[in-house]
Amino acid sequence: MVTSVMPTYGRIDIAFERGEGSYLYSTDGRRYLDFASGIATNSLGHAHPHLVAKVQEQAGKLWHVSNLYNIPEQQRFADRLVANSFADTCFFCNSGAEAMEGALKVARKYHFVNGDADREEMVCATGSFHGRTLATLSAGDNDKYREGFGPRPGGFTHVAFGNLNEMRAAMSDKTAAIVVEPIQGEGGINPATSEYLQALREIADEFGALLVFDEVQCGMGRTGHLFAYEISGVAPDIMALAKGLGSGFPVGAVLASEKGASGMSPGTHGSTYGGNPMAMAAGNAVLDVMLEDGFLDTVQKNGTYLRQQLEAVVSRHPKVLESVRGTGLMQGIKCVKPNLELMTATREAGLLTVVAGDNVLRILPPLTVSKGEIDEAVGYLDTAFAAASD
Ligand SMILES: *Cc1c(COP(=O)(O)O)cnc(C)c1O
Repeated sequence: MVTSVMPTYGRIDIAFERGEGSYLYSTDGRRYLDFASGIATNSLGHAHPHLVAKVQEQAGKLWHVSNLYNIPEQQRFADRLVANSFADTCFFCNSGAEAMEGALKVARKYHFVNGDADREEMVCATGSFHGRTLATLSAGDNDKYREGFGPRPGGFTHVAFGNLNEMRAAMSDKTAAIVVEPIQGEGGINPATSEYLQALREIADEFGALLVFDEVQCGMGRTGHLFAYEISGVAPDIMALAKGLGSGFPVGAVLASEKGASGMSPGTHGSTYGGNPMAMAAGNAVLDVMLEDGFLDTVQKNGTYLRQQLEAVVSRHPKVLESVRGTGLMQGIKCVKPNLELMTATREAGLLTVVAGDNVLRILPPLTVSKGEIDEAVGYLDTAFAAASD
């Protein structure tokens, strides 16, 4: 008999009662240091006092009115995202897949209104993940996720991530956009080089195509920069955000330059919940914290420290670990032993981590993590990996 919750997940048999900062407390009374952060989503940890206060305050006033009306909190959030990014305009939705789906629509509509209706093709990268809707599954590169779900939305091709020859060869006057994650998350924490992103920008411009970045996982401070693209200095035309944007409250966004969004006019896209007052209170509260003087500098400093410590961990356990890769507080350990087995071992030692593709163990602490908590995590990793080396 099917379970009342549709059995789409292979779940770990733990439930959590509450969280505080970087820690989660399970219903069976254990404390865990949370370096999974709800899959890079609890950007400010658990029960952050400023977020709790702002969301509680909003909850007593107004939850939802729909986009039939002006939503001042949405206007404010959009203004602040625009002021702090390449973008001139924002569309709000509720998840990463929805943000990417919106980004693809914005890109195609740009060509449609500019007299190029048959520019529909998206050139995407191997190893990418963009969500679980039908179109974002087509944009992503995981056949297992697509199997059994009928015809795939057309117009998507894939070239090797990082390979400019393949990218160039795939471009044509039918290309609507190049679509990449500046740092691939689910695929196994694969950062694009700045040279690669710069070349993608040039190729897109040369072929009259748009450049779409999926920063659902690598955006919102994770790298120590508000957005990962800032590291390369390469601005996209369109960018998808979600995960850390609401620090656990469901919020997604499509950001675009004026040019990128030039196809969008009243009636072209929508979402009932998108940008509602509750979600916008959460998003604005997240920005309050991330835009504070020194916040992102501290993320960078702690990211460098975490990286150094992880390199040392890998060198201490060569039988089970191979290397470290990533940027800031988005790090991945390439494993020798199966990553699932090592994730279980770290959890038993007291540290929550999360697996990714390519046999990688992701280390994704809240951006509010302290140096002391990183040291504590390293202790758990050493315990787990020493046991796994026997
Ligand atoms: C998680 C993720 C998505 C999908 O987000 P959902 O909120 O699960 O729909 C899309 N793109 C990237 C890069 C992601 O990491």
